[in-house]
Amino acid sequence: MKAHVSHPVVVLGGGIAGITAALELNRAGVPVALVEKSPFFGGRAASFVCKATDVCQKCGACRVDQALRELFETPEIRRFPHTQVMAVSPGKGGMHLTLVTRPQAVDPTRCTDCGLCLAECPVPGALLNTVSAENHPRFAVEPARCLFFQDGSCRRCEAVCPTGALDLTRPETRVELTSAGVVVATGYQPSPPPPRSVFARAGLPQVITGGDLEELLRQGGPLFRPSDGRQVRRLAFIQCVGSRDREHAYCSRVCCGYGLRLARLVRHRWPEVQVSTFYMDLQNVGPDPEEFEAMVSRELELIRALPGDVALTTDGSLMLRFFDDQSGKALFRVVDLLVLAVGIAPGPDNPRLAEMLGLPLTADGFLGSGNGAASLPPGIFLAGTATGPLSIPECITQATRAAQEVCRYLEETL
Ligand SMILES: Cc1cc2nc3c(=O)[nH]c(=O)nc-3n(C[C@H](O)[C@H](O)[C@H](O)COP(=O)(O)OP(=O)(O)OC[C@H]3O[C@@H](n4cnc5c(N)ncnc54)[C@H](O)[C@@H]3O)c2cc1C
Ligand code: SF4
Ligand code: SF4
Repeated sequence: MKAHVSHPVVVLGGGIAGITAALELNRAGVPVALVEKSPFFGGRAASFVCKATDVCQKCGACRVDQALRELFETPEIRRFPHTQVMAVSPGKGGMHLTLVTRPQAVDPTRCTDCGLCLAECPVPGALLNTVSAENHPRFAVEPARCLFFQDGSCRRCEAVCPTGALDLTRPETRVELTSAGVVVATGYQPSPPPPRSVFARAGLPQVITGGDLEELLRQGGPLFRPSDGRQVRRLAFIQCVGSRDREHAYCSRVCCGYGLRLARLVRHRWPEVQVSTFYMDLQNVGPDPEEFEAMVSRELELIRALPGDVALTTDGSLMLRFFDDQSGKALFRVVDLLVLAVGIAPGPDNPRLAEMLGLPLTADGFLGSGNGAASLPPGIFLAGTATGPLSIPECITQATRAAQEVCRYLEETL
């Protein structure tokens, strides 16, 4: 990047896509401001566990840690955690953005990430923390839950902090910024099981999502069922939950891959656990899905059917009923825990961002037109799952491309 850029490019969203775009822009000599709505960086994938068995399963989780490490080692990128863009207007030399940052109670220069504040806090959700060891600080106060911000009745975290890092009186701040361009990388939300599905209707605590299983795997030890602490002996996955249905007509692209990686990791850690995976067909599992299927079926029971019914047995297990095409019969599997491989749904802020930035929305609710940047307003670029379902490596590739487009745009317009 030869031309001198005086205003920063603002990257909205500090997940893997936003971080990648910010790092690439910084490498090209472009000033960057990285605006993240939550107090922590890394997005959803920052809490994923490494899925390596004896061999790397190429889940991409470590690539997020690596990007986070690089981000925190690059002070040139201005980080705005717990911040949102509240207004956008045309300005001299670029777009004018109003950023509002929630009160930053934890001082990163003093916090040692000891966690004493979290242990002391009496209100669930008032003291937030991230499992991502690459973030700093790993603790933050959520004003919407904290008693101090409601009625001033609590300052226990401040009192217990050994380094004086906590100051609950720090105010919300507002920054007015002119930006040379904006990269929108605000990500996705996991698709909820469709309300009509038997699993959602059942409302059973023995039914968890892929994200919940990630958390259980992080805890290590024997695999216990969260609802009652019973050790899990039989586990089933159901693929395509919240994808390829009436509410989400598209394929989420990542669930086959992550569901099977999780299933294989369970078998690797606890070989005594029986695992069945219910699926329609396998998507994005490499160049030869049949060979992959044959390989995986040596470790897991792959059942090409989706259960039509789930019932609770007298001992608290789940009975899944499905129709077996080959025998033409209804069959059953009884499991202790059922994992729904939920998919990728549009981020909740997409309609607001689309209106504020003049962006189109796809029929499924993702940002953009689904076919490239041609119809975007000048100076605005998209990256990552804000545009639709993508894996971590795909986000990295696409965000790198977006950063290159930004550089081209800046060279042409400056
Ligand atoms: C259960 C599950 C398991 C998965 N497992 C894998 C896997 O093993 N391997 C793999 O490759 N992929 C996996 N994926 C997909 C993976 O999560 C995504 O590819 C990746 O996280 C997308 O990164 P992103 O940066 O686009 O979005 P996100 O991770 O969603 O990050 C977006 C960031 O933007 C922030 N944000 C949102 N709105 C705003 C706003 N208005 N202003 C500022 N910031 C905002 C969010 O807080 C968030 O930090 C999985 C997905 C699911 C649902
Ligand atoms: S108690 Fe203080 S130093 Fe320890 S994690 Fe909390 S804010 Fe940081
Ligand atoms: S002031 Fe009290 S409620 Fe608020 S974060 Fe600290 S300990 Fe929790």
